[in-house]
Amino acid sequence: MSLSLDQLKAAFKKNENEGGTNRPNNYYPFWNLQEGQQAIVRFLPDKNTNNPLGFLVEKLMHTLDINGEKKSAPCLRMYNEDCPICKVSSAYYKAEDKANGKKYWRKKQHIAQGLVVEDPLPADENTKETHEGKVRFFALGYQLFNVIKEAFEGGELEDVPYSQDGGYDFIIKKTKQGDYAGYAVGSRFRAKARELTKTERSAADDQMIDLATLLPQNPGEEKLSAMLTAALNGTAYEEKQSDKPTGFSFNKKGSKPVSVVHTDEDDNIPEEVATPAPKATPKVEAEGGQEFDAEAKQILESIRSRMKKKAE
Ligand SMILES: [Zn+2]
Repeated sequence: MSLSLDQLKAAFKKNENEGGTNRPNNYYPFWNLQEGQQAIVRFLPDKNTNNPLGFLVEKLMHTLDINGEKKSAPCLRMYNEDCPICKVSSAYYKAEDKANGKKYWRKKQHIAQGLVVEDPLPADENTKETHEGKVRFFALGYQLFNVIKEAFEGGELEDVPYSQDGGYDFIIKKTKQGDYAGYAVGSRFRAKARELTKTERSAADDQMIDLATLLPQNPGEEKLSAMLTAALNGTAYEEKQSDKPTGFSFNKKGSKPVSVVHTDEDDNIPEEVATPAPKATPKVEAEGGQEFDAEAKQILESIRSRMKKKAE
């Protein structure tokens, strides 16, 4: 079988869309709700029935300043590996440098999928359609995740909320909280369970996916460390398609970087826009106590010596 160019293009495009790097249009943009408005959704289970969270996956990302731009980089903890960026963040916190600790700290979102039951957002200008009746993804930040968590703790649910038979619709409501708008006050599961309609069931069955496919692929420790080094030293970083097995190299003599690293558009999905971050500074886990203290010291020393070298 020979492929036409169009078929090949389509296959590449499809490939690009897999691995979780971009489905930005399939996220329900609840951050566009007006204050006082609410959307009603019904979370659906992960197609991967081995997911211990049932209907959510955790997405952990770092932000690095590279080549004068903010770049998202997956946190390796997502893949149960040691993460060099987390280590740097913890090292800064240990050294009482909260600003840098926070800068390198991982950002957590939970991603869910669900049917949009009621959508107050204006219809799309081109398609004239709303999200109603469709399966969408939800990038849940701290506030909405907490609402869900508290519902479990409060014992108000009699079944898993994403059950098609006895689950609960979820209200996402934006309200004014002080100077900002937020979701913590009005959002909740509906008190009464509801069985999905036949139409809803068939939409759900057709469109449900394995949520892990929404997560970025593991970039590997080597690549991530190179990005981190570039961010720490303020040097350029380029990802080169060369014949070298590593596939990247540093841009030493100030030549123009060829391409950038990792441009998942959906990493930039605002989740809870205009929402102040929780005030508490993230708790730094004691990663091995004394051992970690020594490691933290070593990390910071190597950062400092690199900075010094650069200044010379
Ligand atoms: Zn990390």
